[in-house]
Amino acid sequence: MEVTATSVWNNCLAFIKDNISIQNYKTWFMPIKPLKLQGAVLSVQVPSKFFFEWLEENYIDLLRMAIRRELGEGARLVYSIVMENTYGNNNPVTVKIPSANRGAIKNNPLNVPTDNSSIRNPFVIPGLKKLQIESQLNPNYTFDNFIEGDCNRLARSAGYAVAEKPGGTSFNPLLLYGGVGLGKTHLAHAIGIGIKDKYPEKTVLYVSAEKFTQQFMHSTRNNTRNDFVHFYEMIDCLIIDDVQSFAGREKTQDIFFEIFNYLHQNGKQVILTSDRAPVDLQGMEQRVLSRLKWGLSADLQVPELETRIAILERKTYNDGIELPTDVIEYLAYSINSNVRELEGALNSLLAQSLLNKKKITVELAQQMVKKFVKTNTKEITIDYIQKIVCDYFNMPIELIKSKTRKREVVQARQLTMYFSKQLTKNSLAAIGAQCGNKDHATVLHACRTVANLSETDKQFKAYVEDLSKKLS
Ligand code: ADP
Ligand code: MG
Repeated sequence: MEVTATSVWNNCLAFIKDNISIQNYKTWFMPIKPLKLQGAVLSVQVPSKFFFEWLEENYIDLLRMAIRRELGEGARLVYSIVMENTYGNNNPVTVKIPSANRGAIKNNPLNVPTDNSSIRNPFVIPGLKKLQIESQLNPNYTFDNFIEGDCNRLARSAGYAVAEKPGGTSFNPLLLYGGVGLGKTHLAHAIGIGIKDKYPEKTVLYVSAEKFTQQFMHSTRNNTRNDFVHFYEMIDCLIIDDVQSFAGREKTQDIFFEIFNYLHQNGKQVILTSDRAPVDLQGMEQRVLSRLKWGLSADLQVPELETRIAILERKTYNDGIELPTDVIEYLAYSINSNVRELEGALNSLLAQSLLNKKKITVELAQQMVKKFVKTNTKEITIDYIQKIVCDYFNMPIELIKSKTRKREVVQARQLTMYFSKQLTKNSLAAIGAQCGNKDHATVLHACRTVANLSETDKQFKAYVEDLSKKLS
């Protein structure tokens, strides 16, 4: 019999049916349609993005097993999703997403001494014979999804080296630091996932410093401090996120110090993140700080424009959405604070387009960014306005600041003054001082001239409109 997408899928279904409840089978597998078979790649259609996520989250192991039985080790699954359409026409958009092929990231159960004081796992209910330590890793935070740029090259490659040889490099501990939303947590997870991929037998644990502190305090109250320490000493790769929150907590620092020393001496890997550089970690004990110096501190910077574009492209690709290039560029250009805000802006845009059934265009993006950036208090300065105006007229900024009375320069200068008055909190005198050392009356005159001209002169009106768009 010929092997087709349908025949392969029917065999998979038979296998799947035997392994789950009939209800789940009906809900999650009956609606799937086989589409295409190309070599070992089977494409199937699922009804929605939610459906796809549910399958990937709950049935990936079963699916993988089923298709490998049919198509061998190299078997791969590609989903086609019928999307709610984002383009305002009536054809449903289909997007293709390769299966991440990755379920929850599990550690092997550990044997623990089964005397009465068996070690309590602060993450799960006590009383288990074998200790199952959940890695707490987020499977989406992979290296693949972490876009490389000048802003993160050192941190990323150090992280990569650690993932290849945990405990076996001089980057121990590895401290990743940088401002909020720049990818510290993502990178820390990526290293953990990298280690699990290469060394499945190693026990990796991700924990926030906050949670670590709570667990510790809990153990002090319950007289289980030793259990707490032993638990952490069983980990092969310990990731503690946001250690700046240890500042001022001496007892927590002491126990961290103890655990750290044990792990380090035993060749185990420690990865830490912090929202500031070690020198700025006030309230941290000297001995703890000195341990940080044993390894490597690598910082994450704000990504440059190309990287921001690449991040948006990757994110839309992962979400199975297609956005016009000019929209992506507009977002990447306007939002330059950090990656979390960039993602926030993208999500808000998608939500607005879905809810209001509006096409995603640069105009929609502009409206959204305007609101978004306002609430994020990005301040517009005179310098910034000068730059935008000069770029627009393609003239050097020095000209505006000079005494020149050439017509084009006067015009650009007046526009700069006008927008500075409108968009900044500077006084007329302060604006004048920065625009060719003029007095406050000149600035006032400029504001009136611009207002008048934009009513009478069509060309001039267009300048004002273009510029206010650029400045908004
Ligand atoms: P931090 O821990 O530094 O505050 P996160 O790791 O939580 O920042 O990152 C914020 C968001 O930005 C996350 O969704 C993360 O996936 C994303 N992100 C950050 N840096 C990158 C990058 N280089 N490539 C892709 N996504 C990134
Ligand atoms: Mg974080």
